[in-house]
Amino acid sequence: MNSVESQSEIAASIKEAVSLASTPNPSISKEEALMLVSPTQLEAVLHTSFEPSNHEVLTRGLGASPGAAVGKIVLSADEAMMATEDVILVRAETNPADVHGMQIAVGILTTRGGLASHAAVVARGWGKPAVCGAENIELADDHITINGERIDVGETLSIDGTSGEVIRGTIQTTHLEPIPEIDVLLQWADEVRQLDIRANADTAAEAKAARGKGAEGIGLCRTEHMFLDEQRLPIIRRMILASTTEQEAEALQELRESQHKDFIGLLKEMDGLPVTIRLLDPPLHEFLPEIEELLEAAVGQGLDQEQQDLLEAAHRWRERNPMIGTRGVRLAWLKPGLYEMQTLALLDAIADRTTNGGTPQVEIMIPLTVSDKELAGIRERVQATIDEHPSKTVIKIGTMIETPRAALVASQLAEHADFFSFGTNDLTQLTFGFSRDDVESRIMGLYLEQELLQHNPFQQIDAEAVTELVQLGIERGRNTKPDLSIGVCGEHGGDPISIGLLAATGIDYVSCSPPRIPIARLAAAQAAITQSIKN
Ligand code: PEP
Ligand code: MG
Repeated sequence: MNSVESQSEIAASIKEAVSLASTPNPSISKEEALMLVSPTQLEAVLHTSFEPSNHEVLTRGLGASPGAAVGKIVLSADEAMMATEDVILVRAETNPADVHGMQIAVGILTTRGGLASHAAVVARGWGKPAVCGAENIELADDHITINGERIDVGETLSIDGTSGEVIRGTIQTTHLEPIPEIDVLLQWADEVRQLDIRANADTAAEAKAARGKGAEGIGLCRTEHMFLDEQRLPIIRRMILASTTEQEAEALQELRESQHKDFIGLLKEMDGLPVTIRLLDPPLHEFLPEIEELLEAAVGQGLDQEQQDLLEAAHRWRERNPMIGTRGVRLAWLKPGLYEMQTLALLDAIADRTTNGGTPQVEIMIPLTVSDKELAGIRERVQATIDEHPSKTVIKIGTMIETPRAALVASQLAEHADFFSFGTNDLTQLTFGFSRDDVESRIMGLYLEQELLQHNPFQQIDAEAVTELVQLGIERGRNTKPDLSIGVCGEHGGDPISIGLLAATGIDYVSCSPPRIPIARLAAAQAAITQSIKN
């Protein structure tokens, strides 16, 4: 796309491409029309941007979730909750405890973190503009400083989650006009594409939005996101803090009930389509408050007993490298009740939907496995829970492939998996040894500028090593099970160039955040057309 091409110019070219291919004597084929519209152009007309103006860009971060947003700045999730006007939530980085404020904010701005960081992934899932890793911003208690300019809480900022621009004051945003020709184009895309397109969705609302955009199922439900609202956090904290098995069991029972309701909503929206439920993945300390915040409170007003317990637990669970620490399937070995609770909640929801005339199609996914014994043991437990449940449901149980080791031992993992889903965010992190939370804000810009790397591998899948590992994992997995269903649910599943590269590896589907579904449908069609031209 020409960088000065406006939304109305792009809209005009989409309309023209569709019209040329749909007259009684079309001058171009539908395939040609599909090749005339780039996914970048499609993205540009699906999200708001700034009206052209001579605005001064204060700083730039990573364009982490497309669209433009204007609001008064707040510096904590709780301040966002109290706001009566549109707010931009500015944080060093976000974590699960910020989700309630992120929901309220019209845009999210972080000073640390990359395209696969918490803020980026969550914002993209909701279609909310986000700029991440804007490291020139300094945070204070009641203001921020950008390149020496002070901006107080309550002042207005404009952010562009496509370009990463951060601007002081209000910049007029574009008004999105519906373009019916996009639906026509995407129907043509569906006729030619080989890949299925699923959504990464964690709530009924996201599932509904995804289905409306053409998703053919859910490829990744990050169940930890269901624990994050204000009512749920105290329950999971109670589970972590429990000092007796009875206390732990009580908290797990409460979680089961709330998760059961969430699953019903999700399955209802995706009735008849596959829904992949990933069992709990993140390190447990993500559910605890930040140690620094508790220490600050201790110095200020002091800590009550509950806060003291939380501080003690936060210390106990703190890890130097949490992304490669106690998370994923390792949690299930440490706290067996967790996956059992989640499986039971799911089975209850399936039973409920079936009784109410639904046809739920559920798959259970085990994250971050690295060995066949590790997977086999947990699979056996999950299967035992399923077998003991009165609903007598048949559920596929698969695993994520997120480490180089998992890709290399895929033939053994396939013995115990009904499907694979490549978690290319972690696979990229672990193949490069690049922290997905840190490397983009400090190192990546320099590496790209110096051409040490051609692309940010968290955005566009690395064709030399990560795609090779995906290819190898597929070959080895299908050596054991020729009909193994295989998808990709990392953020690359919504990136057009990555979709092209991944389509050639033989995967069955990609799964991406709901707002990216139209882009993925078009990119998958273009990959199929390009492939057929080559053959
Ligand atoms: C991944 O690692 O690619 C993935 C989808 O899991 P998450 O982003 O939740 O770690
Ligand atoms: Mg992962």
